[in-house]
Amino acid sequence: MRYVYAIDVGGTKVELAVGDETGRLLATDRVATGDLGRQDAIVAALSERLRTLTPVGIHPDAVGVGSPGPLDSRAGRLLKPSNLPGWEFLEIENKLSAAMGLPVTLENDATAAALGEWQYGAGQGTDDMVYVTVSTGVGAGIIAHGDLIRGAAANAGELGHVIVNFEGVPCHCGLTGCLETEASGTALARMAEERRRESSWLRAHAGPLSAPDVFEALRAGDATAREIVDHAADRLAWAFGTLVNLTNPERIVVGGGVAAEGDWLLDPIRRAMPRYAMPDLLSSTTVVQSALGADVGVAGAVAVALRAGRKA
Ligand SMILES: [Zn+2]
Repeated sequence: MRYVYAIDVGGTKVELAVGDETGRLLATDRVATGDLGRQDAIVAALSERLRTLTPVGIHPDAVGVGSPGPLDSRAGRLLKPSNLPGWEFLEIENKLSAAMGLPVTLENDATAAALGEWQYGAGQGTDDMVYVTVSTGVGAGIIAHGDLIRGAAANAGELGHVIVNFEGVPCHCGLTGCLETEASGTALARMAEERRRESSWLRAHAGPLSAPDVFEALRAGDATAREIVDHAADRLAWAFGTLVNLTNPERIVVGGGVAAEGDWLLDPIRRAMPRYAMPDLLSSTTVVQSALGADVGVAGAVAVALRAGRKA
């Protein structure tokens, strides 16, 4: 049995795990991203935590890291992730490898999650699937013909920055009208704030509105919340329809915080997809919820570490 380390880097928290080759997590740990410090201190803190986490008698032989992109995969380093201050240009592959004495593989987080769902989750048994995360941001990982689509610089799958509104708002990536500005959890909260006055439910809510608030209003029958979710679902369906026409996937697996709403999000997407995908291709595609849920990030990083070892 092989064992590996997994690290899932996020804007608010970093999750660490020791996993085995079946994807089972033997031990997990979680730390606030800000508590790891900056640059070299991050590497020292991560290697210390992984060592502490390791069960007695277990000897992991590789490390997989999932991180928000875009990345510089050739140099095994991050670029300038907007929500990770202190991680700019961090050469995590080289530095963590030196600290741990093990091979380290860095992968875009959505790509890693796609690998996790494909091997251990809702994508099992398919050769062609797409994993889409709808959370604070939007991202995707594409499996085609039984392999990952990584691209020339391993940054494929930036579905959140496909343009779906020519009159939309500026995105942190530099483009305008990106899917992420129309359908992420952040976008749902923004649209709810913009339309708060129209809805007695939203108006009565104290404090800033969040994506879960929008779905709570939806379940309570609020018409404004219905329009906001339908708009986001329509833009997701646009992007999904494009994916269907381009890659003819058997399954689109949707995960991330907003996807935890289940069919309240997925049903309006399914209803809208015939507007954006060719019927013959759409008939062979199903849209399903992530099976790994909150573990998809670390499970994906386990899959990344195992896959790198297999290739070596
Ligand atoms: Zn963008």
